[in-house]
Amino acid sequence: MRALTVAPGTAHSARVDDIADPPLADGAVLVRTLAIGVCGTDRDIVCGRYGWAPPGEKRLVIGHESLGIVQEGPAESGVNAGDLVVGIVRRPDPVPCPSCAVGEWDMCRNGRYTERGIKERHGYGSELFRVEPDFLIKIDPSLGMHGVLLEPTSVVAKAWDHTEHIGQRARSWSPKTLLVTGAGPVGLLAALIGAQRGLEVHVLDHHDHAGKRTLVRQLGGRYHTRTLADVGLKPDILMECSGAPPVIRDVLGNTAASGIVCLVGVTEAGHDFDLDLGALNRTLVLDNNTVFGTVNANRLHYQMAAEALRKADKAWLGAMITRREPVAQWTRALQRQPDDIKVIVDFS
Ligand code: BGC
Repeated sequence: MRALTVAPGTAHSARVDDIADPPLADGAVLVRTLAIGVCGTDRDIVCGRYGWAPPGEKRLVIGHESLGIVQEGPAESGVNAGDLVVGIVRRPDPVPCPSCAVGEWDMCRNGRYTERGIKERHGYGSELFRVEPDFLIKIDPSLGMHGVLLEPTSVVAKAWDHTEHIGQRARSWSPKTLLVTGAGPVGLLAALIGAQRGLEVHVLDHHDHAGKRTLVRQLGGRYHTRTLADVGLKPDILMECSGAPPVIRDVLGNTAASGIVCLVGVTEAGHDFDLDLGALNRTLVLDNNTVFGTVNANRLHYQMAAEALRKADKAWLGAMITRREPVAQWTRALQRQPDDIKVIVDFS
């Protein structure tokens, strides 16, 4: 079968390989792939900056944003042939640490977790994949191809879940305003969930993109393209999804009192800025502000994400997927084009 592969650590090694059918060791449920979403993590892996092949192997099957149709699943697996499913990315560490032991692999404490398509486990980017029933999410059939958005939505659902847990440290917490910095798929999905929560939504993008502007407006939100200062808002919740160091510097301390800054975007090391830590600390302390980071998602978050997508307008979700590339040309999916939002590799 055809598979999207890379040699982690080596730049521009991406290609289509012919590999053996997935081994039973990957899980009892056999899935035929419909689509694989591509994100910044995949670009980092293809550039040789991130990612690990399984132990003893040189190449990694990439693809962690999956969507497929069950071909066969044992009776006790909870899924039937024809079900639309998405595979969970992370697997618990082997120790397991206290978090992984209770199914919170997204909070792994020893870093020995594995991730399909990213860290030491082959991904879902092959014509067929296998997965353990416990690491599979069945989604509403009405979602169709939009189900490929489930994995990035799960990351955002976790960000929301933790933001709300933190907010509830004060019984009086009742947020009204949300500012999302960064209008990539993760930022837009964060805005979608904010709108579903009834918040006043603002999204700050680094340049004007007609498609994104429309998507934000359709959520009832406001789309901004200048600086954080120009937005002129101290939100109750600020979700930083750009991963851009200058934006991150600006968002710190830029919330209302009791505000929460949730950092979702990943950055490279090596960006030094002048920052008045005294002033920042003074603001965070005197205003009871929180800044926290979040990554990945556990099963609960995938379920929250599935519900958020089920409730979302299908045309809105459809407009998020701006380009589909066939398997044979999958590396084109990695090259950014001006109109892109979410780009997928189409296996259907
Ligand atoms: C994925 C996460 C993963 C993270 C770090 C992201 O792109 O969506 O599931 O934990 O990369 O590897």
